[in-house]
Amino acid sequence: MLINLIPLSLGGRVNWICWLLNIDPCQLRRIHQWIGFIAAVEGTAHVILSVFQNIDQLRETVSAADILTGSSLALILMSLFPLFRKKSYESFSIIHVTGSVLLVGTLWHHVIGSSPFQKPRVYLLIVTSIWLVDQILRLGCLLYRSLPHRGVGNKATLVAFPDTTHICVKLSAPWNFRPGQYVYLTIPRASKTALIQSHPFYIAWWYESLGDHNDEKPKVHKPDTIVLLSATKNGFTKELTRVSQQNLLMNTRKALKEKQMPDPCWCATLDKTCQIPAVIEGPFGHEVNLDTFETVLFFTSGIGIAAQLLYMKHLAEVKEKDGSKRVALFWELQSEYHAFWVNSWMTEILSIDSSKKLIYVHIYVLGDYVSEDTQVGNKASATKGSTHRIYDHLSKDNGESWSVYDLGFDE
Ligand SMILES: Cc1cc2nc3c(=O)[nH]c(=O)nc-3n(C[C@H](O)[C@H](O)[C@H](O)COP(=O)(O)OP(=O)(O)OC[C@H]3O[C@@H](n4cnc5c(N)ncnc54)[C@H](O)[C@@H]3O)c2cc1C
Repeated sequence: MLINLIPLSLGGRVNWICWLLNIDPCQLRRIHQWIGFIAAVEGTAHVILSVFQNIDQLRETVSAADILTGSSLALILMSLFPLFRKKSYESFSIIHVTGSVLLVGTLWHHVIGSSPFQKPRVYLLIVTSIWLVDQILRLGCLLYRSLPHRGVGNKATLVAFPDTTHICVKLSAPWNFRPGQYVYLTIPRASKTALIQSHPFYIAWWYESLGDHNDEKPKVHKPDTIVLLSATKNGFTKELTRVSQQNLLMNTRKALKEKQMPDPCWCATLDKTCQIPAVIEGPFGHEVNLDTFETVLFFTSGIGIAAQLLYMKHLAEVKEKDGSKRVALFWELQSEYHAFWVNSWMTEILSIDSSKKLIYVHIYVLGDYVSEDTQVGNKASATKGSTHRIYDHLSKDNGESWSVYDLGFDE
């Protein structure tokens, strides 16, 4: 069992090990779950066998540390119930980590009498060292990204959109942003427990911020602000929505219908007094190189667009240079108002395609139409025919509008 704790000590959450081994966070989580399962079965079998072997002298042979070891194993097992993890991720996370630290601590007591060079002690030493190095590295990165640089820390502005919150974070230590990157975000002021919560979000957009006054030229000539899109669920994201209500820029459906969409970097023009401190961990995630493909089709639904926009922008820019790429997006939405989440950025991406022939956007709207006259099955086109809105399920589309050859591509 102890040898299994070595890979487990790397954790199941995204960290430097993903970057080092070039593995996907989902793969790391699955590896962690499977090895954890094997270790738990072995540990439980060990406890049961020990109890049966010493059933006559249980009082004399079992110490308080042994009981603690068994209890921490039980705590970890209890935290693994999928329903519990889904309903209360933060409680799961706290119980899981506390149980694991307690388990390793009491295991040290378990092997204390053995020689320092015996396998159990060596394994535990490796486990403890890896865990400590991981924690120190994480803390170092977290402090570097989040401590104030030249007196200014990360500043987040939250803006409410229908069923989502736009989080614009002006970074004190920006990095070279790439498509496919995501960060862990903590907004301490979001709620009483927000300080101990960090949640992953894809970088949906980035831009160079303006100076202190909107009419000033940028002082730093490189992108320093990221925008994250947070779909409203029941925990932290709901708190973000509550906080963002103070910025009602795009919240009401009426406002969305009547207001002109602002500049793609509109967050920069918002009231600076609405900014609140943010802690950023990352970046994580690898960019997938799509430059070598002639045709790239993106399929997504709802908030999934956050992970794809920057790939589209990048491909549009590459295509503008060599003229060979063809890009199409197929995006299914529960409400037509959700299209406003990325409206200004989509317009910017489409404007890069000067020929209006190489980027195609197909939006499938399932309900909650903006116009009362819209009927299921209707279709509408805009931006010189490169944006199509289909008021039906993507799966119901009989294919006529999403065959690559019918998209308007040349060949
Ligand atoms: C790599 C990655 C990138 C993501 N990018 C985006 C994005 O760009 N936009 C977006 O809206 N959502 C994104 N998500 C999902 C987002 O992180 C969760 O929706 C958010 O953490 C839910 O927070 P909550 O407290 O409101 O959730 P709850 O209402 O408490 O739970 C909703 C669901 O989210 C899961 N969840 C809760 N906390 C976490 C956490 N810390 N880590 C992972 N899962 C969690 C729960 O298990 C549950 O299934 C991403 C998730 C991952 C793993």
